[in-house]
Amino acid sequence: MLNIDLHCHSNVSDGVLPPAEVVARAAANGVHVLALTDHDDVAGLADAQAAAEETGLTLIPGVEISVTWSGQTVHIVGLRIDHAHPELAAGLHGIRLGRIERAQRMGEDLARSGIVGAYEGAYDYAANKQMVGRTHFARWLVAQGHTPDMRSAFRHFLTRGNPGYVEHQWTSLENAVGWIRASGGMAVIAHPGRYAFNARELHLLLDAFRALGGEGIEVITGSHHPSEYGKFADLARAFGLKASRGADFHAPGEGIDIGRLPALPHYCQPVWQGWPELEAHFSLSPT
Ligand code: AMP
Ligand code: MN
Ligand code: MN
Ligand code: MN
Repeated sequence: MLNIDLHCHSNVSDGVLPPAEVVARAAANGVHVLALTDHDDVAGLADAQAAAEETGLTLIPGVEISVTWSGQTVHIVGLRIDHAHPELAAGLHGIRLGRIERAQRMGEDLARSGIVGAYEGAYDYAANKQMVGRTHFARWLVAQGHTPDMRSAFRHFLTRGNPGYVEHQWTSLENAVGWIRASGGMAVIAHPGRYAFNARELHLLLDAFRALGGEGIEVITGSHHPSEYGKFADLARAFGLKASRGADFHAPGEGIDIGRLPALPHYCQPVWQGWPELEAHFSLSPT
């Protein structure tokens, strides 16, 4: 069976490995087809593609776009995008400008709780200075001894109602899906189990997403508990969405490793069905 992992991060966003090392790790883990999906930036794709050509792994150009929908943050993964497409590039650039200002406000909010120097600290942790995010703040808070681990960093800081959380308006669902489609890509709702929506709100999101031309939803992700896989596989089928699989790998030792998730349930229609990139692998592997 092909090992396909369509969600991971490099240090171009909030992962820790450079893009080429993410690809090397995926290859070493037995991944055949990998999508690099950094938050709001595509700057790692060229290096990742070069590394993929050395390993025989197939790289799918991807991105994970931050969206505000119905007052909540939702992540939309774009797969098989053209990362040079001007509309997509301009849209992502706008999101990154907003991130810089947001990170400064997060630092000010933490300072009001007596934690000083957080913005500068998080900034030092970010390889891409346009992409300072909550994960960089979390790593700094842990390193400074303000909290024991990443989980508690998000639990006691950086989430709604806690120091370091500031409201932020990301782009619209319509923009994110529109840019992905304009660049020739497929839009996929990331880790649906992570959002604080009730069933009705989630159904509204899936309907709105479908109406905009969204095509897929993550069923198997590092963010879902195994007990949730069936629920999202059923939702995918009920809403006519294809199913995706991705570890959402960020760093060795943090969460699930690349390519180390179970297969999609057999009744799912995978997002990769019909992709020409997969043919090379099928022709190589005996059936
Ligand atoms: P941002 O885009 O700056 O809001 O940061 C969001 C990122 O924070 C996500 O992509 C995850 O990598 C990370 N994150 C969010 N919640 C948690 C959590 N509870 N534990 C660990 N990482 C988290
Ligand atoms: Mn992340
Ligand atoms: Mn995400
Ligand atoms: Mn992600």
